[in-house]
Amino acid sequence: QNTDLSEMLEEVVDRFSFQLRQKAITVSVKVENKQNTAWLDRDGIDQVLDNLVSNAIKYTLDGGSIDISAKSNETGQLAIAIKDTGIGIPKKDLNRIFERFYRVDKARSRNMGGTGLGLSIAREIVRAHGGSITLESESNVGTVVTVLLPIVQEGGEPA
Ligand code: ATP
Ligand code: MG
Repeated sequence: QNTDLSEMLEEVVDRFSFQLRQKAITVSVKVENKQNTAWLDRDGIDQVLDNLVSNAIKYTLDGGSIDISAKSNETGQLAIAIKDTGIGIPKKDLNRIFERFYRVDKARSRNMGGTGLGLSIAREIVRAHGGSITLESESNVGTVVTVLLPIVQEGGEPA
């Protein structure tokens, strides 16, 4: 199992290569510095990233783009952001989007498949790791979801 964050993120993208090609969505992955991820719970965080990338693809029109970026900040946290050029989320729905089964207007999501659980599960996992997840969005412009995770050092103590 690799411990390099760039490779981990590339692998997430690879898992969606079929859908990405089908919708002609371009993806960029940018990791600031070399980030070791030996401390990361790969299974849990992969599940979070899969959920977020799946959303980014599902709610982005053909020919759009997705930018995945990661950097560690001054406060010892790793920030992973997934940004899309999709349909966005109306302001009135933003504060409910992490609720179980909440989906923005049923007509819009009916044909897309899914249950409305992805974001709530993602938030549960991230919180279980002591992190947080935030979402910014604008209708018809796009969405950026940021996952903040406390970097845990070898000994198990937060950085
Ligand atoms: P599931 O994840 O269970 O397959 P889902 O994708 O509908 O279903 P969530 O991932 O929880 O559920 O997202 C909730 C709702 O938030 C979605 O139905 C969609 O309306 C909106 N949403 C989530 N991510 C995005 C995004 N990147 N762009 C636009 N809307 C989004
Ligand atoms: Mg989803």
